[in-house]
Amino acid sequence: MAKTVSVAAINDGTVIDHIPCGQALKIIHLLQLDHNRYKVTIGLHLTSSSMGFKDLVKIEDRFLTQKETQDIAVFSPQATICTIKNYKVASKISSKLPSTIEKILVCPNTRCITHQPHVMTEFSVEEFKQKVYLRCHFCEKLFERDQIKEYRI
Ligand SMILES: [Zn+2]
Repeated sequence: MAKTVSVAAINDGTVIDHIPCGQALKIIHLLQLDHNRYKVTIGLHLTSSSMGFKDLVKIEDRFLTQKETQDIAVFSPQATICTIKNYKVASKISSKLPSTIEKILVCPNTRCITHQPHVMTEFSVEEFKQKVYLRCHFCEKLFERDQIKEYRI
């Protein structure tokens, strides 16, 4: 019953489920949903049989590109992304890590050249023992995902 309430039906759009707690707002920011007119429903700390607790994001009339799907995986590797068409699940995929992620993240190394104006960041993405690591293409330092902040748009 609780499940029906938290995942109310949408006509067309995208449901991102099984997001680790605390990551939903990052995904909103990543997809720039705070800057446009799409109807967004956010569920925080919902109970989940597989995860204990989870976050969930539901976006009406918005479909994700493959690149967006991959970028989401950097924040929540276990997320499932459902495309809804005409109230039915048209596709359901697990997010897959990209090999690189550009522009979105700030290099924690304050001496890195990417802190100069007009230099965009780029990290290669590695997964090791279910943790995501990112290596800066410029200073070549390796960071855990949680050490890295996103740019404020
Ligand atoms: Zn760097």
